[in-house]
Amino acid sequence: MESMFSDLGAFGLDSDQPLDFNSQPKDEKQVKKVVTTKKTQQLVFDRKIKCPVCDHEFLSKTVKTSVNRFEKTSLTLRPVYSKIDPLLYDVVQCNACGYAALNTSYNKISERQVKAIREKISSKFIPKEEQKDYDYKTALVNNKLALYNAIVMGSKSINKAYLCLRISWILDGYLETLTEEDKKEALTLERLNFVKNAYMGFLEAYETISFPVFGMNQPTYYYLLGVLAYELGDHSHSKRWLSKVMVAEGSHQRLKDKARDVKDLVNQKIKEEKEATSSE
Ligand SMILES: [Zn+2]
Repeated sequence: MESMFSDLGAFGLDSDQPLDFNSQPKDEKQVKKVVTTKKTQQLVFDRKIKCPVCDHEFLSKTVKTSVNRFEKTSLTLRPVYSKIDPLLYDVVQCNACGYAALNTSYNKISERQVKAIREKISSKFIPKEEQKDYDYKTALVNNKLALYNAIVMGSKSINKAYLCLRISWILDGYLETLTEEDKKEALTLERLNFVKNAYMGFLEAYETISFPVFGMNQPTYYYLLGVLAYELGDHSHSKRWLSKVMVAEGSHQRLKDKARDVKDLVNQKIKEEKEATSSE
């Protein structure tokens, strides 16, 4: 399999940049289907941004929240909207110096972090043409660049884990819209690798975070760990986290139902695996 950042080579960046989470859950292939969203130019507007790293001024597209109705979340909590997928738009990237981050945290950067980005990214960054396409392929590269920046900046595990989760969501969207069958296997494996890194990062962050985090309360965090463990084929941990959802304080009925659904899927998997072993 190619390295996680192989598509950042065009920017002059190190494609072997390691992501430094500790634990190592095991792999298993699994893809989920969710609703496809369409790109519509009338649903976005240009926002003027001043880069906090190099002072370059540029325009970045943002989704008009007023017209884009939230519909549901996928199994791994990917938010699904009625008209346009905000995942395509919510990383802001400076094409002059290579600084990229989620729009919600773009200006939350310390002097030390600015220095690190100038030294480790801007010094070797090769600017690309201004971004015109807002599709899953471009969003994938933008989000990987944001993750690369987060690593260089020494961001907390929770931030890196969330970016890994977002990249797995983007790969969900990418896989849904992809027509070339031959690319699907590689993207599915790549997605699973980001699911794994998200899981390891969220596990690592768990002891140190205070809730809510990225819109999640504690029961939702348990659910997320449970569903990510399920996707990785780690049945026992999955069931353990999902059981916590049932008894956690502040756990809503809808979340409990969702946890029960995933638990059923885990039990189904266990049953299938037992049958496969006994028929060998
Ligand atoms: Zn910049």
